[in-house]
Amino acid sequence: MSSEPAEQALARVRIGGRTQRLEWRAGVITVIEPVAGPADWLALPLPVDPHVHLDKTHIISRCAPQATGLFAAIEAQHADMARWDGADIRHRAGLALEEAWRNGFRALRSHVDWTTPEAPLAWSVLGELAVEWRDRIVIQRAALCPLDLIGDPDAGPGIASAVARMPGAVLGAFVYRNEGLDEKLDRVFALADHHDLTLDFHVDEGLEPEAQGFDTIVSLAARYRMAGRVLCGHACALAVRPHDAVARVLEQAAKAGVGLTVLPTTNAWLQDAQPGRTPRLRGLAPLHEARAAGMDVLLGADNVADPFFPYGSYDALDIHRQAVIAAHLDPAEWVDAITTLPARWLGQEPGLPEIGARADFMLIRAPDWPGVLQNPRAERRVFRAGSDISTSL
Ligand SMILES: [Zn+2]
Repeated sequence: MSSEPAEQALARVRIGGRTQRLEWRAGVITVIEPVAGPADWLALPLPVDPHVHLDKTHIISRCAPQATGLFAAIEAQHADMARWDGADIRHRAGLALEEAWRNGFRALRSHVDWTTPEAPLAWSVLGELAVEWRDRIVIQRAALCPLDLIGDPDAGPGIASAVARMPGAVLGAFVYRNEGLDEKLDRVFALADHHDLTLDFHVDEGLEPEAQGFDTIVSLAARYRMAGRVLCGHACALAVRPHDAVARVLEQAAKAGVGLTVLPTTNAWLQDAQPGRTPRLRGLAPLHEARAAGMDVLLGADNVADPFFPYGSYDALDIHRQAVIAAHLDPAEWVDAITTLPARWLGQEPGLPEIGARADFMLIRAPDWPGVLQNPRAERRVFRAGSDISTSL
């Protein structure tokens, strides 16, 4: 337990773009008031990650892929899955959650590979972990089914009912140039509509302009009136399609209330990857354009220490930094992509520091966002209910 005093104060913290005095007492913020001069610390809400894979995390040491790219990574993972018993999944996901906790996360959505009509073991193991961690991190599960399985009229309905029985669980599919893609996606939307489920897709994760599952999802989201309940992860192919077509579909996506999750580390690692050749394309969906069109654009860690991305961490600031550099983002303007926006999409409070709110926030020893980006080793402190839970980060 922490031995923090009940009352604490910091004289100069940057909150909401200005320097402020911040005080909290018994775990609740009591004072935020402007003061003159530069800040010593920058404060941000505790982050939320909308897209991780706790079932496959931390397997890289035993299944390095034999080639570069997405499909070699899938093969390497499948070879490892024979080892995925309850103890193994629990151990690896537990390591991830400990790290996420230290780095300040308050909620995560984890996709879970679901490749047979029956629920995978990882689904129930992560369900147990969600209960064990519920007072620390909200863990949502999203079924990641091949579209050919969840869009199959024989298998899909059973899977959707199983997902719907779990409160807060989400339905999803891996969509990439499938045969009969439109009909299969229509069935997925009909199942979501029937069970009142939220949808979260892995879609068009490649650099072939013919991959246009995103467009079908956007029109179905409009037709089924699912604004705010359909997230598209990846959508890398939008990066290589003609400008006018992309502008059109992004506008439709904004109108339909579809959100976009960009996964900067995994996309940069897997896209345009060939041995001995420097990648020319970064695999990022056009996130500036999506946001300008009115879409919510979120950032996620995606893969950590698995064949899809052998490195990485459960650290929202690392993901933010990678995205800022790779996509020329303004760091202050895009901090919502790791905080308030994913919070809203996961049904959580925005978590902004304000008077009367729980004293949950992260502090970074820098006067402003340029200062944060200039110093990757700047001290960080994570406060939960007013107590500093930081360890050496
Ligand atoms: Zn993913």
